[in-house]
Amino acid sequence: MAEVKKIAVIAGDGIGPEVVAEAEKVLKRTEEVFGLRFELEHGLFGGIAIDQKGTPLPQETLEICQKADAVLLGAVGGPKWDNNSAALRPETGLLGIRKALGLFSNIRPATVFDCLKDASTLKPEVLDGTDLIVVRELTGGIYFGEKFRRETENGTEAVDTCVYNVKEIERIARQGFEIAMTRSKRLASVDKANVLETSRLWRETVIKLHAEYPEVELEHILVDNCAMQLLRRPSSFDVIVTENMFGDILSDEAAMLTGSIGMLSSASLGEGAFGLYEPVHGSAPDIAGQGISNPIATILSVALMFRLTFGYHKEAEAIERAVKEVLDAGHRTGDIAVDKSKAIGTTAMGDLIVAAIR
Ligand code: NAD
Repeated sequence: MAEVKKIAVIAGDGIGPEVVAEAEKVLKRTEEVFGLRFELEHGLFGGIAIDQKGTPLPQETLEICQKADAVLLGAVGGPKWDNNSAALRPETGLLGIRKALGLFSNIRPATVFDCLKDASTLKPEVLDGTDLIVVRELTGGIYFGEKFRRETENGTEAVDTCVYNVKEIERIARQGFEIAMTRSKRLASVDKANVLETSRLWRETVIKLHAEYPEVELEHILVDNCAMQLLRRPSSFDVIVTENMFGDILSDEAAMLTGSIGMLSSASLGEGAFGLYEPVHGSAPDIAGQGISNPIATILSVALMFRLTFGYHKEAEAIERAVKEVLDAGHRTGDIAVDKSKAIGTTAMGDLIVAAIR
């Protein structure tokens, strides 16, 4: 019998509960098929928590997450809370949960499904075989450096400082190497070492750490070149590791290779195996409650959880294969359907994927 894994399930707002319900069905199916065992505990988070508990991140929700091996999150936010003060906004809860759980990296796979190549703005032949992961540092760099303004003889001057220390670089680079070891053992470290001192320290640190991972083929690539190569030869990348701001931009660029926000999973990781898994998309208030949202991003987030937190690789592959099979058979939710009149709903898509898990 497999060890019981505790998962905190936080559905959130808008389409969050709809897509998370399908992911829960997938978890249940993997218990039946593979003998896995999960203990799910549900918590309130985001707008719904503001309405019911007066705060986006109630203490009991945080405790559920802290006791769990992994967190599955839907999405939070919506127009109802957009004009609230900062403390009463769902997004404040997102920042709070990442900080409280010590999450310092964001992992975003970008996999192009053959049958959806037409959804991308790039030529299908350029996308052939694209299957990459961007590992982004989340807590340092210019976004968190000192910020101020000062008066000069040329008028007001604004300053943002970019700071990284060896420990911060080492722990994110290690995640990059570790993830590369579970895949095709190729790592591209992205920096701007020709001009930035933080990037020079980044590169030195990555080179030193490489000694611990001699099997990984390491490439250093300047961020501007990486942005170009992602569009020119996306399939040549496997794992990309980079600092906060570069990763922010490159992960969005990589996401667009796949053409649909409803298909993109993500993880935020801290020390050890713990992780928070969620779709890249938001709460999509424009389609919430209609039963037409695409649950695939959330279902693929479960596959990512299996790989990165639990080491259930065979089971993760079964979920990914099921998604591919259902898409190959021509089933589509509205966001990825060419002929919208043939689109299926959220639960129908979930049911088909569940049935295809073997
Ligand atoms: P969004 O991702 O929610 O929606 C963008 C567009 O994509 C919409 O047209 C939506 O209908 C569509 N879409 C998104 N996910 C889909 C799915 N699974 N299936 C089908 N269509 C899908 O982004 P937005 O509209 O900018 O933001 C809406 C709300 O979500 C805001 O309150 C925002 O703050 C919040 N948000 C939350 C998160 C999060 O919880 N991590 C992330 C992004 C945005």
